[in-house]
Amino acid sequence: MSKDQFNECDVVQDLLPLYYDNACSPASKKMVEQHLMTCEKCKKTYEALKNTTIDTVMKNESEGILERHAKKERNMAYKAGIVIALLLMVPVVITFIVSMSSGGGLGVFAVLTASMLLVASLSVVPLVSTQRRMIKSILASVTALLLIFFFVDRMNGGGEFILWTIPTIFGLSVVFFPLVIRNITLPPILSDKKALITLAWDTLWLFLTIFEVCNHSGDREGMRAGYIAAFILMAGVWLVFWVARYLPVNGWIKAGTILIISCIWMAFTNDVYAYFAEHKKQLTILSTHFSDWTNHICVNANVCTLILIFGGIAGGGLLVYGMINRK
Ligand SMILES: [Zn+2]
Repeated sequence: MSKDQFNECDVVQDLLPLYYDNACSPASKKMVEQHLMTCEKCKKTYEALKNTTIDTVMKNESEGILERHAKKERNMAYKAGIVIALLLMVPVVITFIVSMSSGGGLGVFAVLTASMLLVASLSVVPLVSTQRRMIKSILASVTALLLIFFFVDRMNGGGEFILWTIPTIFGLSVVFFPLVIRNITLPPILSDKKALITLAWDTLWLFLTIFEVCNHSGDREGMRAGYIAAFILMAGVWLVFWVARYLPVNGWIKAGTILIISCIWMAFTNDVYAYFAEHKKQLTILSTHFSDWTNHICVNANVCTLILIFGGIAGGGLLVYGMINRK
């Protein structure tokens, strides 16, 4: 091996990283390529460089660290979940022993057990499960809550469980049903109808709530008024939903249509309610007097008229813009 050859190896090895990144001059590139064809030693160095570039080393290492970290976190979460579950058992066991020895029945024990199940649903379930934590947690806590209702109702002589349950399910559904259904896999025919199912579900529980609350107190007149109010409300909601989901127009036209519907709904809902619930034919906006802001009938009418005017202008603007930009 001549002295020149030896020097060339040094130079080529210095250049290899640049050559690998395709960042050296054409002259250097040509020199490296020629050298690699003749020199086994530098060729091996280059192969090694290709296999273990800094990028891959770092990527492999960080992936390994992340995976180990995630595994460790999962293990710790699981252990924490078990510890919390055991701690929740302590009051349950104590109450069980006290209830048994005092002969006072198992009412308090049952209520406490259900309460601990509720706490467990919110703490243990998310910690020990790896998939669909939110759904499991929501379903478990709703079940535990209903169990508490059931046992407390039993202790109080019974008869109110349904009265507490239906409005609770309605209230919780409004908040949680969209989250739950989003994470559930439905049959293909229903999978694109999740919004529709949510709205139908909430509508059902709204009417069930009105029925149960009024039925329980025997308030027939209240039930009628409640149904009429709920019907007017849901008619507006369903109309807006239908426009937003199914009307085959662009977003601007949809927004304009929804704005106009909402404003008309706000301006006339009192009149519609008065007609169906009280058999009164009235038209609030007829009392509009923009000079009078003291009489509450006039104020009400003025606000309704202003809503109609501004809703009409803004909604109309959106409609026109949407039509112009129609493709
Ligand atoms: Zn060489």
